[in-house]
Amino acid sequence: MRKDSAILPGATVGVLGSGQLGRMFAIAARRMGYRVHTFSPDNDTPTGQVADREIVASYDDLDAVRDFARGVNVVTFEFEDVPAPTAAAAAEFAPVRPDGSVLHTTQNRLREKTFLREHGFAVTPFRELRNVDDFNTARRELGHPGMLKTGDFGYDGKGQARIEADTLVRWKWYPGVRWIYEAFVDFEREISVVAARGADGSFAHWGVIDNTHRNGILDLSIAPANLAPQIQSRAIEIARSVLESLNVIGVLCVEFFLTNKGDLLINELAPRPHNSGHFTFDASVTSQFEQQLRAVCGLPLGSTELLRPAAMANLLGDVWEHGEPDWQAACAFANVKLHLYGKQDARPGRKMGHLTALADSADEAARLALQARDALIRRPS
Ligand code: AMP
Repeated sequence: MRKDSAILPGATVGVLGSGQLGRMFAIAARRMGYRVHTFSPDNDTPTGQVADREIVASYDDLDAVRDFARGVNVVTFEFEDVPAPTAAAAAEFAPVRPDGSVLHTTQNRLREKTFLREHGFAVTPFRELRNVDDFNTARRELGHPGMLKTGDFGYDGKGQARIEADTLVRWKWYPGVRWIYEAFVDFEREISVVAARGADGSFAHWGVIDNTHRNGILDLSIAPANLAPQIQSRAIEIARSVLESLNVIGVLCVEFFLTNKGDLLINELAPRPHNSGHFTFDASVTSQFEQQLRAVCGLPLGSTELLRPAAMANLLGDVWEHGEPDWQAACAFANVKLHLYGKQDARPGRKMGHLTALADSADEAARLALQARDALIRRPS
């Protein structure tokens, strides 16, 4: 993009999707004087609550998608399951960034892993399954335990099961539905790199983030990760190559397993701001959300400097089990920031908000974030 074709404050940015990522993006965009329209099938959404306009229509309603795109200067998205025809219909009237092809590759586990493998990136060993014979062969070749995952969608541990040597799987094969059998990685750590690429090819990242999952869902992220500098620079270089290979304009997160041998295997890509990068909202000069805005609008990328070590703890619906959490108790932690996404229905496993703690060290920040989360949970009387 030429410098003079940048999309400047005052313009309107369209967001496909309406969850918390869109909400934080909209907050960053409105702060910089942009208008935000969001498009999704739902009403009173986390993004819609802070956007200028909330358009409620099905992603398959391509006329509604075209109308939406006519009303904005650029379209981005906040979740990758936007169907490819939706992105294509939007692209008839406004630039879509990252491009629909990035969505297409990353919204399907099988396509994503195949793309990575073909481009020379190390991924968890996997096999595509089309029938029971493929499954039996994969179990024999990759061994146990393994992970059975849906090929076509899935996130946050959804659509996957751990398979032991004695696990009997009885299922119905649907024609055209593909599965993956993946070797189980006895990893030492899970880490991620959230990175951005500008319209001019410039690159920025927030360093290596240390992640802990619970039941397949991110629980705690710590930055900076306490890892050998060589591992950190390797992870960052891999992230840079992934963004370049996919020709991303925007933000993309690379999730890795760090094995006991010190190898980095890519587990998953997310072509948008990521839960593990939420701390950047409070702890970095430029957040991942502002960076997405800058990238898709063709502005120069901002500094990703970390102002203070930080930790982010998710607040899932489970936290509401014994009643409305004690917000005052959490706010009593003066260096902890409370983020809530405006969702009404606190179902177990649903991401409702998060806490970000800032401290003099990453360990101290992690301790604070967990303490604050513990303090807000009501106990049964
Ligand atoms: P995913 O939705 O594929 O990112 O998986 C969610 C979480 O499940 C990961 O962050 C890991 O904690 C765990 N997991 C997924 N795949 C594997 C694997 N092949 N080996 C070990 N743990 C895994």
